[in-house]
Amino acid sequence: MKTAAIYLRVSTEEQTKGHSLDTQRERVKAFAAREGYLTVEEYADDGISAKTAAKRPGFQRMVRDAMDGKFEAVLAYKFDRLFRNTEDHAVYTNRLAKKGVRFISATEPSDDSTSGKLIRDILAAVSEADNLMRGERIAAAKKHQAQRGCHVGNTPFGYKRVAPGQLEVYEPEAEVVRETYRRFLTGHSLGKIARDFNAEFPFRNWYGPSMRMLMLRVTYKGRIQCRDEVYPGNHEALVDEATWDAAATILYGNKPAQGRPPKRLVFGSLVRCQECGRRLGTRTFLNRTGETSRYLHVYYCKGQVAGLCGFRLMGGIRFEQRILAALAALKPDDLVKEVVHRKAPRKRNGELGRERVMQLVFKGLVTTEQAEKFLKEQAAGPDGEEKEPDTKAIIRVRGQAVAAILDESLALPLRRHAAKQVIERIELRGKERPYRPFIVLRPRDEA
Ligand SMILES: [Zn+2]
Repeated sequence: MKTAAIYLRVSTEEQTKGHSLDTQRERVKAFAAREGYLTVEEYADDGISAKTAAKRPGFQRMVRDAMDGKFEAVLAYKFDRLFRNTEDHAVYTNRLAKKGVRFISATEPSDDSTSGKLIRDILAAVSEADNLMRGERIAAAKKHQAQRGCHVGNTPFGYKRVAPGQLEVYEPEAEVVRETYRRFLTGHSLGKIARDFNAEFPFRNWYGPSMRMLMLRVTYKGRIQCRDEVYPGNHEALVDEATWDAAATILYGNKPAQGRPPKRLVFGSLVRCQECGRRLGTRTFLNRTGETSRYLHVYYCKGQVAGLCGFRLMGGIRFEQRILAALAALKPDDLVKEVVHRKAPRKRNGELGRERVMQLVFKGLVTTEQAEKFLKEQAAGPDGEEKEPDTKAIIRVRGQAVAAILDESLALPLRRHAAKQVIERIELRGKERPYRPFIVLRPRDEA
C-alpha cells in the first residue's frame, strides 16, 4: 500500500461561507480509500488567507516531513488548496519530486504524463486568475449596490453613514459644502475659498485642488458614482442640480465632463517614496495648456497629501520606462537574487545584448538553459555550477511574469498582477531627479 499525507486548507473568507475543513477531509479520505492510499498524517491550515505558502505553517510542516520521507504522496481536495500561485506550484512540485513524493488532487487529474502536468500548470494559473477575478466580483457587487441608490465607498464629507450604503446629512459639514458652492459661484477662486476656510473652519486642512474635487462629487446633487457610471441616490442632496452643474461647468473649463482618464502606470504601490518610504500612489491628470491638452501620469506620495512628507509629484511614464528597461535586461540568475539591479547595463560593442537574449527566453523561443549557456560563452564568465531544480522552476515562472510585465499589449490589471508576483518593492535612488529605479525582487520562499 502506498502511504500518503492529507493536506487541508480553508481561508477565513471561505470559513465564513460555511466551507469547512471537515467537508474537504471527508472527500479526500474517500478518495484515498478508493485509490488504495494509507493515510499516515494530516496537515491543515485553518483560516489563513495568505497568498504565499511561506505563511502556512501546516503546509511547511508537511513539506519538511515529505523531505524526510515520511510518505509517498500528498492528497488534497484540489490543487488550489496546495498552491496559491504558479510559483508555489512550480517550486514545491519540483522539490518533492526529488524525494519521489507526488501531489495528488482528489477531484482533478494528477497523472505524471505531459498532459497531466500541463493540466496542473493550467489549474495553478486558473486559481491565480481567480484571485484576480475576486476584485472584479467585488466591483460588480458595488455596482449593484449603486444601482439600488446605495452609497459606495468612503463616507463623503457632509454626511454620516447610518447603515451600510445609507447616508444622512451631517449638518455641521453640510453647511460648509453648501458654502463652497455659494462662494465659488459668486466668483471666489478655489485658492481664496481654501484660505478663508482654513481660518473659518479649521477642523481640517483645505487646499485649492481639494475644493475642486469636493465640488465635483456627484453625491452633493443626490447621485451615486460607481466607477464611470452615475446613478440616482437614496440620500438627500446638499445643493440643487442647477447649482452643481453650474459649478461643474466652470470647473471643467466650459467643456463637457471628461470620462475617467485612461490608466497607464503599471507599478503603482510597489514604488516607495524617496523621502519617507511610504508607498507611492498613481494619478492621471488632464493638463490643459491653451488649445492642447494631454494626460499626465504621475506618482505622488500619500504622506505628502497628508502634509507629512515633502516629496513632489514625479512623472510616471519615463520612470516606468526605466523600470521596464531594467527588467528586460535581467539575467535568468537575477530572478532568484534578492536585489537585482541598479540600472540597465550598457551594451558593449559586438555583444548580443542580454536584453535581446532574455526576450527570446521570455517568448519561449529558446530555453533558459540555452540562453544561459550562450551568455556564459559570450561573457566567458565564471560560475559553472549546476542549478537546483527549485531555482530553475522559479526562473521559469518569474521569467514568464517578467515577460507579461514587458508585454504592453496585455491588459493593465494583468501586468500589474505580474509585477506584484515578482517585485517586492521599487526604491528611488539618486540625490536628485530623475531618480533611478532600484528594483528589489520578492524574496525566495525558503521553507
Ligand atoms: Zn513621502
